[in-house]
Amino acid sequence: MAEETSLEDFLDAGDESEDEGVNGVSAGDETTETESEVSDAEVSTDGVEPAVTTYAWSPEGAPCAECGEVVERRWRQDSILVCGACKSW
Ligand SMILES: [Zn+2]
Repeated sequence: MAEETSLEDFLDAGDESEDEGVNGVSAGDETTETESEVSDAEVSTDGVEPAVTTYAWSPEGAPCAECGEVVERRWRQDSILVCGACKSW
């Protein structure tokens, strides 16, 4: 008789603890999603463009080495900087 009683007790306890576990977990993961909007501040530097090998950028304009026209953006051709019209694409 003693054995049967202890078995029933064990089953009852197991059921109850399972219910509580399911209800206790969830909610609390949505607080870290507002950080993805902060990576937009790197393309707004006026005139301070890095010296790329393919072209040069001058905010006030610079004369083309070929025709002398003042342009903001010149492309490197051989060892000189020329405007878009003189550059042979
Ligand atoms: Zn030119």
